[in-house]
Amino acid sequence: MKFELEESLRGAPDEKLLEDMRRSAKAIGRVTITMAEYERSGKAHPSTIQRRFGSWPKALKLAGLQPSRSKIWITDEELFENIKSLWMSLGRQPRYTEVRAPNSRFSAGTYENRFGSWAKALREFVAWVNSDASDQPQQDAEQALDAADATIQICSTTRRTRREISDRQRFRILVRDGFRCKACGASPLKEPGIELHVDHVLPWSKGGETTDDNLETKCKQCNLGKGNAFHV
Ligand SMILES: [Zn+2]
Repeated sequence: MKFELEESLRGAPDEKLLEDMRRSAKAIGRVTITMAEYERSGKAHPSTIQRRFGSWPKALKLAGLQPSRSKIWITDEELFENIKSLWMSLGRQPRYTEVRAPNSRFSAGTYENRFGSWAKALREFVAWVNSDASDQPQQDAEQALDAADATIQICSTTRRTRREISDRQRFRILVRDGFRCKACGASPLKEPGIELHVDHVLPWSKGGETTDDNLETKCKQCNLGKGNAFHV
């Protein structure tokens, strides 16, 4: 390694400082950078940048970088999505001690701060999973159908649910079915290569609705009907 003095950016033009922030963020593969990270990889001292631009967030904005992530900006949705991923990777309800890196994006403490306790966070999560409205039968539509002859023509062709299975509904079905294929029992928890699909029991094309009771978990092989292709 060549012996040289580090180039000081103390008196450098604004654009040079911003450019160095972008370079440092890129070096760690991110679209933002914290002061602590910049202190390790940047050429200027973060406080130099802070003073120059008024604050670190202002400097980030001028550099065209994303605001640093802070706990107050994490949404409930992100916290719930993280529980969902954790649950799916474990194939069961995550325990308090499992809510940590690298499997979890957020610490158990983050959940405690937001919801009061991990147990309360789990209860909120379950409510969130079940609050998915797309599979709830629309009673109003059915009642309207009974009420007026004139609407039957229109309503008879409309469906109660959408064809698409939402992420939350898919998760619900996977949990209900124990992350196992309902036809052959295959599970990615035992065989990592197994891919599980959630699909309609009575096909959508034949009038099957996207409700929990008309959905089931099948492995890719069984779902594509290739499970016993040899016997066809
Ligand atoms: Zn199967």
